[in-house]
Amino acid sequence: MNKKLGINTTCVHTGEVKDTQFKGAISPIFMATSYAFDGVDVKRYPRYYNTPNQEMLCKKIAALEQTEDALIFSSGMAAISSTMLAFLKRGDHVVVQQVIYGGTYNFIVSEFDKYGIEYSFTASDKVEDFISLIKENTKILYIETPSNPLLGITDMQAISTIAKQNNILTMIDNTFASPINQIPTNFGIDIIIHSATKYMGGHSDISAGAVAGSKEHIEQVWNTAINLGGNLSDQTVWLLERSLKTLNLRVKEQTKNAQIMAEYLEGNSNIDAVYYPGLKSHPQHEIAKKQMKGFGAMLAFELNENLDAMDFQRNLKLIKSSMSLAGLESTTVSPVQTTHALLSEEERLERGIKDGLIRFSVGIEEPEDLIADIEQAIKSLQ
Ligand SMILES: *Cc1c(COP(=O)(O)O)cnc(C)c1O
Repeated sequence: MNKKLGINTTCVHTGEVKDTQFKGAISPIFMATSYAFDGVDVKRYPRYYNTPNQEMLCKKIAALEQTEDALIFSSGMAAISSTMLAFLKRGDHVVVQQVIYGGTYNFIVSEFDKYGIEYSFTASDKVEDFISLIKENTKILYIETPSNPLLGITDMQAISTIAKQNNILTMIDNTFASPINQIPTNFGIDIIIHSATKYMGGHSDISAGAVAGSKEHIEQVWNTAINLGGNLSDQTVWLLERSLKTLNLRVKEQTKNAQIMAEYLEGNSNIDAVYYPGLKSHPQHEIAKKQMKGFGAMLAFELNENLDAMDFQRNLKLIKSSMSLAGLESTTVSPVQTTHALLSEEERLERGIKDGLIRFSVGIEEPEDLIADIEQAIKSLQ
């Protein structure tokens, strides 16, 4: 087929493994870890990232991200670490956005010195702050937008323009937006990374990662990835394929609910601040409008100082506390207690992360039920 398929058709059909023997309606799972080396076009092995289920699911992910190729990993961090190490060598330098996923931050600060790779964190997500850090040996600009946990927005077009002028590669962590709400290649970003544990998996039951980009870039990632061995098992590849069939339906509904919840929270006098790119009050709302198709289903809010964030979450009955995010079920987390617990208070405040901050992953439940849950939780604190 050469006509571009619609998004739901892509989610359901692209990269299906055809069941030619029994004509089942869904992809069979090929569990083999052992494939013939003789008389075949491709030598297949799980850690070569090319078993039938792996190879075919990459086509769906590439189609969703509108790239030539993709690779699937056993976690988001396997995708991030393999990709960064594929493009960086001793003496290279990378400019990293200040507010990023905690695991990515830890990977950089605890591993890069061992490899002799230099890094600088920006002072904010503004383009000027990236430009000021670019050096002769800078190889990568690494961004995350919307970012964790304050939903900051980085201008993808501005970043990719600067990078191209300086012959630097751009990488984005596109986990929060998912390809439903944001297609980074449309703004010139080279490499797109996902924790597929989040929206792509979507049901809080699989750990996976993905990287998408040009054939050439993905081949370079593959060359390092086969050495690091972060491949995903075929059972989980199959579950991820099943999850991706409903990606658009899920994320659309969650995004719609998040807008409703953000507006509700903004109007609630017990809440001091709401961070959601879909609100006009968001400082980068105009950039978000330019580069996002929907504003996503993650938001954050600050409770009044006299309300305890942990007690508030314990009082919620429907909305669960969770270290993770992006499931069908709504969840909250205190960044201070979890994702940013390793930072000092000073480092946290520098990043705008206060004790009362709650990150809210909005699910598919009806917003009126979520609102009722929040109201009763606040009430029982007073
Ligand atoms: C969860 C997450 C990751 C890491 O993914 P894992 O699957 O846990 O390894 C990376 N980036 C973002 C934005 C995430 O939310």
